[in-house]
Amino acid sequence: MGFYQKLIPKQSCVLCFETAKFCVCKTCESSFVINDNRCLCCAIRLSSNLSFCGECLSHSPAFSKTYVLYDYSHACAQLIKQFKFNHQLCIGDYFAHQLYGLYRLIIKENGNYDAIIPLPLSRARIKERGYNQTHELLRIIAKNTNTIIDTQSVRRIKATKPLSSLNLEQRKKEIKGAFSAQAMSYKKVLLIDDVMTTGSSLNELAKTLTKVGVESCDVLILARA
Ligand SMILES: [Zn+2]
Ligand SMILES: [Zn+2]
Repeated sequence: MGFYQKLIPKQSCVLCFETAKFCVCKTCESSFVINDNRCLCCAIRLSSNLSFCGECLSHSPAFSKTYVLYDYSHACAQLIKQFKFNHQLCIGDYFAHQLYGLYRLIIKENGNYDAIIPLPLSRARIKERGYNQTHELLRIIAKNTNTIIDTQSVRRIKATKPLSSLNLEQRKKEIKGAFSAQAMSYKKVLLIDDVMTTGSSLNELAKTLTKVGVESCDVLILARA
């Protein structure tokens, strides 16, 4: 346990330090804005009452639908950064519970998935962080459901530059051929990642999977930038 965590009593919010039931208090939680008007395919926020964004209409992604818990902004972005870079387990635990809640709603609506596949990180990235944080996000789903969580069949075979500095076209080019998948018998797959920015990585992953027999991919993410 890190020094920082030792300083905070167990029951206080990691964002505002007020007393909390979990590691995030109700007030901070309610600030994680969820804007319901989103593209049905990639979950980007839409200003008008449209169903799809222009990008999905002109270049339909290889996944069908994106489910999202939060907007990647303010307190929520801070919380995700704390989780990813400081490896704060209580935050991972909090997110894992929230994600499980949404997952239950999704399978109620869509039926079960044959497998859940987290976006694979490169070996260099895992080494740098010490773990793949997406696996931690799936902990409660793994504990409470029978859904296969497959972390073995897909590998990242290309270490890409950080995509954050690239525009959409450059991202697509950089991520092309980044994944390699074994032949699989799953037809319906749910892909998981923490934050979706343009969706290029998840799109490339979905494309890779459709080449090895998967018929449909949906996406579940923690936050949409
Ligand atoms: Zn708080
Ligand atoms: Zn879209």
